[in-house]
Amino acid sequence: MTNGLPDSPNAGDIGTPKRTREIVARYGFTFRKRLGQNFLVDGNVLRRIVEAAELGPAKGALEIGPGIGALTERLARAAGKVVAIELDRRLIPILEELLEPHRNVEIVHGDALKLDLKRLIAERFAGLDQVSVVANLPYYATTPILMKLLEDRLPLESIVVMVQKEVAWRMTAPPGGKDYGSLSVAVRYFAEPEIVCLVPRGVFVPPPNVDSAVVRLKMRERPPVDVRDEALFFRVVHAAFAQRRKTLANNLTALLGRERRREAAELPASLGIDPGRRGETLTLEEFAALANELALRQG
Ligand code: SAM
Repeated sequence: MTNGLPDSPNAGDIGTPKRTREIVARYGFTFRKRLGQNFLVDGNVLRRIVEAAELGPAKGALEIGPGIGALTERLARAAGKVVAIELDRRLIPILEELLEPHRNVEIVHGDALKLDLKRLIAERFAGLDQVSVVANLPYYATTPILMKLLEDRLPLESIVVMVQKEVAWRMTAPPGGKDYGSLSVAVRYFAEPEIVCLVPRGVFVPPPNVDSAVVRLKMRERPPVDVRDEALFFRVVHAAFAQRRKTLANNLTALLGRERRREAAELPASLGIDPGRRGETLTLEEFAALANELALRQG
């Protein structure tokens, strides 16, 4: 869509190499690596991300890290409302000018890791049927942002995110392999994950040192396992992966304390789980059984 003269701030899609270069030059913008600033310049990838979010006029999109707005403008065309949270203050006036034609976009200056997202969603998406997070996440903060989105129990339909390829493997890994870890367990506890597409580094400006993937998490209405004490469940999961080469019994000893090391072996055994196994072989159901038994014993 062309919104103005060729050299106006609103000429053509933002997410192309030429237009991005023009915008960067026009505003004298300098990229900050430490903020994970790699902007998408490929129309096909942008389209795949937006399609995966299955938006519509009654739905909202929460974007984390809009950059100069390549994804934001496409979300604006597909959703009823878009709220985009950007940490870099220098980008706010640029976004406001470039996205000015899209009346359904709100730019929020802030840190997605610190904002009260539950409140933000309640206040800014009131009246809409569903909200999804759709974002090309900054690499340095991918895991903490994902964990916050999951653990804050936000009322989301889905989370569609571009992440480093290795993180995508971890998010979607089944038990038993080297990619399976506490992130895989948390993702499966809250959502059903799938890889949408792989994305080469060349579609970003500047190109990062790694390849990426788009992952879609369809949020569950309730977890697939019954857990008595969620905080304890996640402590057990973290403990089981703390030292990957150690056995479950050894890692549980680290969690319970040396004085309870016998129990650390007996507890899994009492549930038919071999204490000599490694954490990376345990299923969600086995982690839940362990945590529930521990919760029972701790009263
Ligand atoms: N969405 C744009 C795109 O796809 O071209 C930019 C994506 S870039 C990978 C990540 C963006 O997140 C940058 O604009 C960066 O300034 C912003 N950012 C980094 N840390 C953030 C945080 N904690 N909260 C909100 N935005 C953040």
